[in-house]
Amino acid sequence: MSPERQRLTRMLFDEYIAMYASRDARLVDRFSENFSGFAGSSDKLIKSRSEWVDITRLDFAQVPGHIGIEMRDLFPQELGADVLAVTAFFHIHLPNPDPLFASETARLVLVFRQEGDDWRIAHSSISIPYGLARDGEVYPASRLQQRNQELQALVDERTQALAQANNQLQLLSNTDGLTGIANRRHFDQALAHEWARAQRAHGPVSLIMLDVDVFKHFNDHYGHLAGDACLKSLALTLAQTGGRRDGDVVARFGGEEFVVLLPGADAPAALEVAQHIQQAIQALALPHDGAPHGIVTVSFGVATMAPEREQLAEELVRRADRAMYRAKQGGRNRIEQAPEP
Ligand code: GH3
Ligand code: MG
Ligand code: MG
Repeated sequence: MSPERQRLTRMLFDEYIAMYASRDARLVDRFSENFSGFAGSSDKLIKSRSEWVDITRLDFAQVPGHIGIEMRDLFPQELGADVLAVTAFFHIHLPNPDPLFASETARLVLVFRQEGDDWRIAHSSISIPYGLARDGEVYPASRLQQRNQELQALVDERTQALAQANNQLQLLSNTDGLTGIANRRHFDQALAHEWARAQRAHGPVSLIMLDVDVFKHFNDHYGHLAGDACLKSLALTLAQTGGRRDGDVVARFGGEEFVVLLPGADAPAALEVAQHIQQAIQALALPHDGAPHGIVTVSFGVATMAPEREQLAEELVRRADRAMYRAKQGGRNRIEQAPEP
């Protein structure tokens, strides 16, 4: 390449860079009618001058202020009598400096073609890599791999956080707000689940239903807040004495009524649990002036079933409820067992 040609190539290139950097709208006049190129931010091949003009105008509109071009390396080439090319490496410094962007190396290939007396830009391709290849690489595979690992770690972290949040939410939606034990919703789900299992296994499932005795009077006498505190104490005692085995569920059934679901427990085992709870409540000895014993007591209904295929879980609740009613009728503070089905 002759020195003249080298100078010409360099002048054409410098003119382009000056116009581009100063956002000079006249740059578009430099594009050849027979143009091809691509922009660094796009994977689209541009095959017409008008498209490239649009892209340039968009570029200038997006960043109207002067752009700093810090040239790192430049290589002019003569591709033919009327075709000159420049390959250049540089850093781009935007008006609002972004250290990440500025540290990347942009690569630009410009091809100039002589058209009449004028040299026009026939090709422009710029690439701004966001991950650089390391030694021994052409494609930045190890960077990508590292980035993938980082992303995967992030996804794992977020997934875990989400699972935790879901767990928390599920726990909340299954917990009784006042007492902190399981709520009716959770009990219904657990009962359906254990009922189906007992049906498959032909095994027993027991239910204890508890109702606080003359609790309306407790509220009337001590006030509703004291009533709430009483229910909390009872719930804690229940949780400590009722849910001994895996799968046992202690729940607030509603108001001053509680349930203890005992999967796999036969009638004697369920009776034993009920007695245990009764003793614990007795030992708690919460004062209740209006009650026959002067302390808070509870009436129990216990039912046990080995459900047949066609039987509904409500049947177990109904039986426990009926037994509890008999305990009330029989003088309260007692345990009644439902008759064998
Ligand atoms: P019995 O021995 O027949 O069960 O008599 P009882 O007074 O306990 O029965 P009743 O169903 O007439 O009254 C239940 C009371 O429980 C009435 C209601 O105000 C009270 N109660 C229900 N839920 C709550 C609650 O969340 N907090 C308080 N403090 N009281 C409640
Ligand atoms: Mg009641
Ligand atoms: Mg009651």
